[in-house]
Amino acid sequence: MSYVNGLKCRECGRSYPVEPLHVCENCFGPLEVVYDYERIKASVSHGLIKSRQQNLWRYRELLPIEGEPIAGPCSGFTPLLRAERLGAEIGLKHLYLKDDSVNHPTLSYKDRVVSVAITKANEFGFTTVSCASTGNLATAVAAHAARAGLKCYIFMPEAVEAGKVVGSTIYGAHVITVKGNYDDVNRLCSEIADKYGWAFVNINLRPYYTEGAKTFGFEIAEQLNWRLPQHIVVPTAGGTILPKVAKAFHELKQVGLVRDGEFKIHSAQAAGSAPVIHALHRRTDLIAPVKPDTIAKSIAIGNPADGYYVLRAVRESGGWGESATDPEIIDAMKLLARTEGVFAEPAGGTTLAVALKLLNQGRIKSDESVVISITGNGYKTLEAVMQQVQAPFVIEARLKEFDALFEQLKNGRRAAAGAA
Ligand SMILES: *Cc1c(COP(=O)(O)O)cnc(C)c1O
Ligand SMILES: [Zn+2]
Repeated sequence: MSYVNGLKCRECGRSYPVEPLHVCENCFGPLEVVYDYERIKASVSHGLIKSRQQNLWRYRELLPIEGEPIAGPCSGFTPLLRAERLGAEIGLKHLYLKDDSVNHPTLSYKDRVVSVAITKANEFGFTTVSCASTGNLATAVAAHAARAGLKCYIFMPEAVEAGKVVGSTIYGAHVITVKGNYDDVNRLCSEIADKYGWAFVNINLRPYYTEGAKTFGFEIAEQLNWRLPQHIVVPTAGGTILPKVAKAFHELKQVGLVRDGEFKIHSAQAAGSAPVIHALHRRTDLIAPVKPDTIAKSIAIGNPADGYYVLRAVRESGGWGESATDPEIIDAMKLLARTEGVFAEPAGGTTLAVALKLLNQGRIKSDESVVISITGNGYKTLEAVMQQVQAPFVIEARLKEFDALFEQLKNGRRAAAGAA
């Protein structure tokens, strides 16, 4: 019981059957899943969705699978946190965090897209899955493949954080790091996909994989009681999640789950890898590739595959975008942790830092509703902040020593880091 009509080229409109294809033979445009929205509208309701398990499959009519899902039984349906303390500190009355730092099982938004891709790979009969990754995709593919009993090969740039290497290898995946940046890895993987015939979740399964990102948006609307936020700030790496969140909001209106509501979607990039923001600010469609250099490694993609669609979604919504420097990202990570108890990875620091800029520019007003996207977990990227936080105080196991330290701490004096 699928509501999928087939695939269609986003550029020339040519139709294709539901197969592991991702580029148009005619014009090399990307292919996208086409749904029968009239039938979906007749089938779904708030009550039906509410009656289902709290995972991303509660929106299955708007996802491109044929049978039962085989991955992600506990993925998705992450918290939408009301951020009152952070909001009060920065001057926003209706601030929310969509918190995929606690997505199951690998603590990033990638558990959504991979749940769909692995289910689809299985439907197509693949026995080996693979990906080109900046790190979070790697851990998600490795974990979901393990649970589905599929063989797994992971490709990442050499400079990736240790947590992402160990966090992939532990699941039994073959992990290969490539001497080069993500864009080099991606190029290599396109050749491997052609030659070996594996399911590369973000290459030949890309039209299906990317649809999983819509669930981030579906959930936000449901958690806001079937309303859209006035603003949402989304990080941009390869450019998957941002246009898909916009698409999710439009689809909810189209199938009658959300009544009309305007939203502005804003892109956030790290200053060390901001090709989409550069193009947005220059008001051009041409995205000049850059060589990434930032601590926000999971969003360090210098030549984003879907960057053009990010520009389009941002402009159509009347949104904007900014970039944040590494020090701004770190400050924002600390602010988020200190005010809300959420330890995001640098991508989350990036969205918060950018939200602050948009607020200062007057593009976001203090009484408007704002969702900041937290797409990954800080425990996987300790390297980014290890040198930026107060080292622990070291004492002997004697009450006197603690008494002395406490005298200093309570008076707001900072003892030298690590002083005995
Ligand atoms: C992959 C990723 C993103 C967004 O990447 P897109 O390719 O633009 O969808 C954002 N944050 C984190 C933590 C990621 O791992
Ligand atoms: Zn085409």
